[in-house]
Amino acid sequence: MNVRIGSGHDTHRLAEGRPLILGGIRIAHSRGLVGHSDADVVLHALTDALLGATGQGDIGDAYPDTDPRWKDAPSERFLSETLQRLYRLGWQPGNADITIFAQEPKLGPIKAAIRDNLARLLGLPAACVNVKAKTGENVGHIGRGEAIGCHAVVLVQRREASVADTV
Ligand code: MG
Repeated sequence: MNVRIGSGHDTHRLAEGRPLILGGIRIAHSRGLVGHSDADVVLHALTDALLGATGQGDIGDAYPDTDPRWKDAPSERFLSETLQRLYRLGWQPGNADITIFAQEPKLGPIKAAIRDNLARLLGLPAACVNVKAKTGENVGHIGRGEAIGCHAVVLVQRREASVADTV
């Protein structure tokens, strides 16, 4: 089969005194996400989706939070290492559809910046990456502003020879 699909989901708790980083973009906000790494839920969900598409388990298997190498690590490292795994296995990303769940801050004005950064990280045209933002409708842990979540779906395809020469 020349295409495969993957799905990833992540949630992190919001707390004061932490930077808020979504999709590798630092966002001005009074609180940020708590985690062993930089807690970027978008990159974690996307990484999980890529691992899932290629049958490699999950981000906890690949980058365990008991490993000091990943303490406060920028999550771009998880994504870039996962992309290298994909390339070695003969796959490349085809497109990604990302949904971020956050009551605050309002993500409408920065969705495009997140999309452009994800496209850059994935080596894809911006048209192959979509970022949607939903609130929690003021209910549940997302709606109460206690956490931010993300759901990612990716398609991967057999790698083209031209890509192999660039990685
Ligand atoms: Mg996570």
